[in-house]
Amino acid sequence: MKRIIFYISALVVMTGYAVPAFSWGQKGHRIIAEIAYDNLNRKSRKQVDKTLGKHGMIYWSNWADEIKSDTIYPDSYDWHFQDFDGGLSDSTVVDALIHYPNEGGNLFRALDSLVKVQRDKEVKDKVHTLRFIIHLCGDRFCPMHTARMDDKGGNMVKMKWFGENTNLHTVWDTHLIESQGYSYSEYARKLERQYAHEKRVIEQMTESELLLQNYHLTEGIYAYQAVWDGNTYHYIYRWRQPMEYQLYVAGIRLAKLLNSIYK
Ligand SMILES: [Zn+2]
Repeated sequence: MKRIIFYISALVVMTGYAVPAFSWGQKGHRIIAEIAYDNLNRKSRKQVDKTLGKHGMIYWSNWADEIKSDTIYPDSYDWHFQDFDGGLSDSTVVDALIHYPNEGGNLFRALDSLVKVQRDKEVKDKVHTLRFIIHLCGDRFCPMHTARMDDKGGNMVKMKWFGENTNLHTVWDTHLIESQGYSYSEYARKLERQYAHEKRVIEQMTESELLLQNYHLTEGIYAYQAVWDGNTYHYIYRWRQPMEYQLYVAGIRLAKLLNSIYK
């Protein structure tokens, strides 16, 4: 436990969000966890089940959001996002994976530290770190968690969703997913069928390629705000598939990460 505290306390609080910035909504994280669990090898599954106990991965996939207001990990609010300015060069974006930026969140640094703890054979209690990894590995593929700093990750971008006031961040965390009306397990099954042919490619992509893919998606989302006619159906038609692809990528990459930890 001491070592966990050491690693965790080494994480630095970089920014303070004045506006709530949640992650993929509860359903998004459950979809990602279910896809990941389906793609774990036998050894990893056994380890994950043993570490998390009877409730398992899907149940714990939202724990990191639920404890944000708890004092147990006071710095963890910043671990859920890594925002950027718009219009950056690819090399500047990719650099964030190595030289963690001083502002805009702490997602990359936190995830790397948590994975180190999970790999450390001398650490006995790995329950909390595993719960964090399951959640944060999902957040890193949510486009509004690598969004703009100046609008608080899309939280300041006002939108109407079927006449109701909301914002860009919440549209991507929750409304787009909920607009499809599936349960989390129905959605996981659907995406596993829909993207089965892409699984190998996604597994083989580098971290840099994945981050750039995510960043360019986010840039496209911002650009669309200027041309969108305000019709919610048009928004769903344009962005449903990119959102679904991100959920699938997150599930496959979480499985890959856990399989590499328990190999
Ligand atoms: Zn989150």
